[in-house]
Amino acid sequence: MTFANNGIKAVLFDYGNTLIEYGPRQVKAQYVALAKELSRLFGHCDFSRLKAIRDRQALAPFHNGYVENDMKLITGELIEEMYQVIPEEAQIWALIETRYRAFVHATEVSSDVPSLLIRLRDQYRLGLVSNYPCSRSIEDSLKKTGLRHFFEVVVVSGDLGYAKPHPKPFETMLDHLKLHPEECLFVGDNWLADIQGAKRMGMPAILISQYAPYGEFKPSDGDHQPDATISHLSELDALLLS
Ligand SMILES: [Mg+2]
Repeated sequence: MTFANNGIKAVLFDYGNTLIEYGPRQVKAQYVALAKELSRLFGHCDFSRLKAIRDRQALAPFHNGYVENDMKLITGELIEEMYQVIPEEAQIWALIETRYRAFVHATEVSSDVPSLLIRLRDQYRLGLVSNYPCSRSIEDSLKKTGLRHFFEVVVVSGDLGYAKPHPKPFETMLDHLKLHPEECLFVGDNWLADIQGAKRMGMPAILISQYAPYGEFKPSDGDHQPDATISHLSELDALLLS
């Protein structure tokens, strides 16, 4: 099937594991950086404990009505659980800064992504809707990868307090673009956040499986099916360009 000449006016992308790899390697690099900073601030860091807490925190929005994590709260909670101390404000911010740096440092984009976006923007408006508690991390990562200028609007869950599949990130994007859901095609890797989130809004959605997902999100009974499934971004040319 093809979406070209189908009334689609905008293509909206997820970021991690859709346009860039953000899988086990990048997550581990972030945890290693956090462990180093925790050791500096508080002494020996139990890495497996850190990983267990951070893995749990990363998935918390999906068990909490899609309320996005608050960076200060989860960072304070991490320190308290690891060391049984009430952290000082400056210690919390030091760790947030470490996580921000590690995130931006770990993000890299494959050279075929900018060329794809150049082709797409001839026919579509482009937007990005990302689940991440810290929008500065996403914005600066997009600048580092050189992708920021392709997107008319960037929506980050951390600015809204709600994560996909909650309607809020999608509604915020639609409000900015002044488009109807059926005029926007969503491309993402997460079955629940991206595909169910977009389809529940009434947007067509393409599932991409190019990178390993960071969490397991299995289909449930009654779920919406994606309008197409691709294993590489390069397949978007045939689906979207006329
Ligand atoms: Mg993703």
